[in-house]
Amino acid sequence: MNRLRLFHPEPVRRRPRIIPVFLPYHGCPHRCLYCAQHLQTGMSNGVETATGEPALTEIHAKMRQSLELLTAGGTKDQGVAFYGGTFTALPVIWQERFLKTVQPHQAAGTITHVRCSTRPDSINAKHLLWLREIGLDMVELGVQSFEPDVLRQSRRGYSAETAVEACLTVRKSGLEMGVQLMPGLPGSTISGWFRDVDQTRALAPDAVRIYPCLVLRGTPLSQAHRAGSYRPWSLSRTVWAVSRALNSFWRQGISVIRIGLAPEGALTPAIQGGPWHPAMGHMAKSHALRSWLIQALTALPGAPRQIYIPRRFAAEFWGHGREHARTWQRLGLPPSNVRTWNRPYFLVASLADRP
Ligand code: SF4
Repeated sequence: MNRLRLFHPEPVRRRPRIIPVFLPYHGCPHRCLYCAQHLQTGMSNGVETATGEPALTEIHAKMRQSLELLTAGGTKDQGVAFYGGTFTALPVIWQERFLKTVQPHQAAGTITHVRCSTRPDSINAKHLLWLREIGLDMVELGVQSFEPDVLRQSRRGYSAETAVEACLTVRKSGLEMGVQLMPGLPGSTISGWFRDVDQTRALAPDAVRIYPCLVLRGTPLSQAHRAGSYRPWSLSRTVWAVSRALNSFWRQGISVIRIGLAPEGALTPAIQGGPWHPAMGHMAKSHALRSWLIQALTALPGAPRQIYIPRRFAAEFWGHGREHARTWQRLGLPPSNVRTWNRPYFLVASLADRP
């Protein structure tokens, strides 16, 4: 085989536009060590409760207004996502109010997917069935890690068994299941991270999000960082570890729908430490693509002579700041031997394929 025809290993997925409904800290039993939802959601200036969170009444009114505008304008096929708190631990009347407000827009075809994020220790089977009946499609569990030591040192408040059980409960409910992981938490190691990836794969989620742990101003983690008792992962270690995880998830057909926090609100200036880069997702994906391609090239009988790459993956192929150019050059693919095209696959010809 002198030529290889390869499709990008990332699973193809539907990407409806998401209307985020941020519920900063609502339903949360406590504030987690690393969490600064008011910075991440940019809602610190909203209508707030005595503890600083925007009131549910205000959040609900804004959501209703946005949905009504979309439906009136004939918009179709959007997603609603309840983020930033513990949705399934909100007062039941509020869970019902939010989901029932979405219902007419689901009936109109404006909204075709509804998801919420929550904690593994805040769900039960009966409740999930009810949420499904009133319109929820997906639960994303903020597992963060399955490693007992990481959960303990990060004071998450639940065990590894609870995290696994929660995933199985979501699975059994018939809802789609998402898992959020956080490499680099206190107590984490590279080997533990790969165990987290394996455990997640074994639970076969529909989607994974990876949020490398950052030190955000005003959190208990920031105090530990200042005191020297917590050392975040470096950017290069994180990009490498996440890229390896991507290859594992992609091999199993699992989509990774987010890598790294979005630079929302007041987040960026509040980052005190940790592996932050606005192009984190791109960097990790480009490293994953590079290792996957290098492995794929070993199927050729000789060194590669020329590669055609789908135009939309050109940036990933070269990497951030063209950091992979030297690797490709060393493998026999200097820029002059790399072409982009509009076909959806990569085509690699080897030296043995010379006309
Ligand atoms: S449960 Fe989630 S949203 Fe709530 S404080 Fe902890 S990390 Fe933040």
